[in-house]
Formats: sequence, structure tokens, C-alpha cells
Amino acid sequence: MALAKRDKLVQFPDPSRKNRGCSSEEVCLQSSLIGKIEKAKRYAQEPGRITIDSLASTFRGENDTHNVSLAAGHWHCTCDFFAERDVCSHTLALEKILRDMLPAESVSATVALF
Ligand SMILES: [Zn+2]
Repeated sequence: MALAKRDKLVQFPDPSRKNRGCSSEEVCLQSSLIGKIEKAKRYAQEPGRITIDSLASTFRGENDTHNVSLAAGHWHCTCDFFAERDVCSHTLALEKILRDMLPAESVSATVALF
């Protein structure tokens, strides 16, 4: 049974897939992956295509490490400043970094200042 399974893996052309003019299945797979990498490069230059709806992160600040999260458009941080003001250097830094990928309601007006 295992041999039959292996034989199926090396069978080419695979009747269930299109050959696309490749000289072997391995070349075809590599060609396909190269195409995906090229597309990923283009996508990486267009962060506006991505919307980060939720996020969980560990932020190593100067004095302590904090858990910063985003859920339902609202930020949360475990630092003392955030507890008092609902905003802090950690959430602002993440807003700045991720700005083009955040829903509008997740970007504060403060971020435009720096
Ligand atoms: Zn914080």
C-alpha cells in the first residue's frame, strides 16, 4: 500500500493537475512557488490591502514588558498609563507601525502628530 502511494507521488503528469508546460512536477511546483513569492513581494508593498482586525502582542518597553492587544477596534495595554488614559506609548507605537493596516476606528488622532 505504501509503495502504491509513493508511486502516485512521483507520477507525472498528475492527471488531476494541469501541467502548465512544466518539464517535471518538481519544476512545476518551484515555478508555482516563485510566482507566489513575486506576488507576496507586490503585496508587501501594498499594506493597505491588509486589515488587522485583532492583535495580541508582547511589548518590551524601557521599564517593563506589557501585553498590548487590539480587539473590536479597541486597543488595550497592561501598563499603568493606559489604565488611566486609555492610550499609551505602546498602543501609539503600534498604531504608528501598523497604521495603513488598521481599521480607521483603531487609529487615534494622536498618531497623526508624530
Ligand atoms: Zn502601554
